[in-house]
This record gives sequence, C-alpha cells and structure tokens, in this order.
Amino acid sequence: MRVKIAIVNSKSFGKYSNAIEELKQYGEVIKKDLPKDIDGMRLAEELKQVNFVIASSTPRYDAYFFNNNKSVVAILVHGIGLDNIDVRSATEEGVVVAKVPGPIEREAVAELTIGLLLNVLRNITPASIKVREGRWADRAKYVGSELMNKTVGVIGVGNIGSRVAEILKNGFNVRILAYDPYIPPEKISNMGLKPASFDELLQESDIITIHCPLTKETYHMLDETAFKKMKDGVIIINTARGAIIDTSALINALEEGKVKAAALDVVEEEPVDPTNPLLRFENVLITPHIGAYTFEALIGMDTVLVEAVKALLKGEAPDNVVNKEVFDRPNLRLKVCFK
Ligand code: NAD
Repeated sequence: MRVKIAIVNSKSFGKYSNAIEELKQYGEVIKKDLPKDIDGMRLAEELKQVNFVIASSTPRYDAYFFNNNKSVVAILVHGIGLDNIDVRSATEEGVVVAKVPGPIEREAVAELTIGLLLNVLRNITPASIKVREGRWADRAKYVGSELMNKTVGVIGVGNIGSRVAEILKNGFNVRILAYDPYIPPEKISNMGLKPASFDELLQESDIITIHCPLTKETYHMLDETAFKKMKDGVIIINTARGAIIDTSALINALEEGKVKAAALDVVEEEPVDPTNPLLRFENVLITPHIGAYTFEALIGMDTVLVEAVKALLKGEAPDNVVNKEVFDRPNLRLKVCFK
C-alpha cells in the first residue's frame, strides 16, 4: 500500500538523518510550508489526500481541521509540545496522534537551559559583543553572579524540569524549590527537591525557570501579579513556551529592575519581530527556539517518527501514541482508510 506523507512546517525533519529516504519506501513524501496561522478549514483542504502528517509547532490542528479533513489517519508531532493539536477532536475523529517521547529531547533542552542561565548570570553574550566592537575595557561593566548556593524555582518537574533540577543540584549545589501541582509532594521530596506552592516559589527564588506545558492554566502564569511577588533582581529563564509569560508584564518588570535578566528560548510571538520591545534590553537573551536542536535529539526524533509510520502501516499502535484510546474507536481512520 502506497501512502502520502506530508512534512508540514518542519525545517529539521530529515535534515540530519535518512528519514525521508526511509519514508519514501512506503509512499510519496511531500513538504509543505503553510502560514502558521492558517485556519482549520484551509488546512483541511491543503492536506486533502495526505495520510500521515509530520507536524511541527505550527500551524494549529483544531476541531475544524479534524472535522473537515477525512484522509489524514495520523498526526506525528516532530517534538514534544502538543499545544497546537486538539487531541480530543483528533480522537473523536479517529485520528492517531503521536509525539516524540520526552527523553529524546530531555538532555538537549535541559543543557540549553543551563547554558542560558550561566550566560545571563555572567553576561557572556553582551561581554562578547563588546570584544567584537573593540571595547575590551568595558569588561568592568560585566561583573556577574555565581550560581552556587542560590535558590532556583523550577516550575514543572517532569521530563525536562527534573533534569534541570538534577544538574543544578548536583553540579552547582543549588537549593531547588519545585512547583508542580500534578506530582505528589513526597515524590518531589524523593527527587531531593523542596516542594513549594506557586507563591512560595515566586517569593523565595533568585532564579525562576519554566518547564511546564502551555495550557489554559499556565497561559500568562507569570503575569503582573506574579512578578510583583518575586524577589527584586530575580532572573527568569523560559525554555518551555512563550505564552506562559505575559510579555508586557515582563517588560514592565525589566524596566522597574524587578527582573535583573531574562533568557528566553521561546517568546509569545515567534519568530520575534525586529520591533519587539524585548530586543531593546541588553539583559534579555533570546534564542530562536533551539531547545531541541542538538544532532542527538534531532536524529532521535526522526527515528521514532519513522518507526511510528512503520508501526501504523502494520496496524499497530506506535510506542509514542498519545491517544491510545483511539484504537478502540469504530471510526479509527487507520482502519477506515486502509481496509
Ligand atoms: P512533561 O510533561 O514531562 O513535564 C511537564 C511538567 O509540568 C509535568 O510534570 C506537569 O505535571 C507539570 N505541569 C503541568 N501543569 C503545570 C502547572 N500548572 N504548574 C506547574 N507545573 C505544571 O514535559 P517536558 O518534556 O518536561 O516538557 C516541558 C515543556 O517544555 C513542553 O511542554 C514544551 O512546551 C517545552 N519544550 C520546549 C522545547 C524547546 O525547544 N524549547 C523542546 C521540548 C519541550
């Protein structure tokens, strides 16, 4: 059976592996670059006759898409964030959703987080820019702070947050306050971390790092009220999702000196517009959503998605399926389309 596989808005899928060649053994492979804000109806039309979608963090696969496109049997997310996929609608429509298992991106994102943190603590990027500008003598401006013995608040101690906490604790003797309402406090304590309420974390942390998913509950979790509760001179790190921070509240907090520095791998508007006020601050470091961009992680991600396609073509559930219950539905598209 030959199928049609579309790689949608992913620049990295297959770039460092032979994943595309492998997929071509099973069907036609096409690449689609679609507007990130394309609506569900148009998306359904664009993907008419496509059976497998290798999906990126854009566009949004919403209920309109799942109700109006009848050829897609599976959405395979080339990443671990599911915030642009309406998994409930996918399940209702009998569409399988699979993603990359967390451990594949864990180290890459955790290590970038530590890199960003050390960078802003020691002003590495601005100091390096001065050297290029021939202003070596400006080095006196770049006195930083040490990480050892600081208190770091980790929001979300799942796959990535737990690794960040482990590196900080074991490598830098940092005290960790962990806020995660979905992990029992005993389990957090057993990880060697101190369970904290959201308010305790805000009030006691020298550094706050975000590792929870973007949900209705975490949207703008760090808002004006939250910034007010933080210590003066707090440092903010976000490698999770941009919209967890209210950008205007962050800008106010930077202007008031409440936030000493911020390092963001993710922002509310991606890509960042050159007029974005965040770019005015020398003490704000922004990277272009490169958390998972290590060769190890990207090759690992490609491999699991190829394996997922192979499993689905055999009628089996891939290891990394997120809506396993879809296999019990009479309208499972995989069966309906390929019977
Ligand atoms: P995970 O699901 O293993 O861990 C997330 C943790 O957040 C869970 O323990 C969960 O209980 C907790 N959580 C949920 N709601 C919360 C809330 N309201 N407050 C505090 N904690 C909450 O996910 P992960 O693999 O650790 O990834 C975390 C996030 O990192 C992803 O959702 C994704 O958005 C982001 N991410 C970014 C990149 C990047 O390139 N920068 C790459 C991978 C993942």
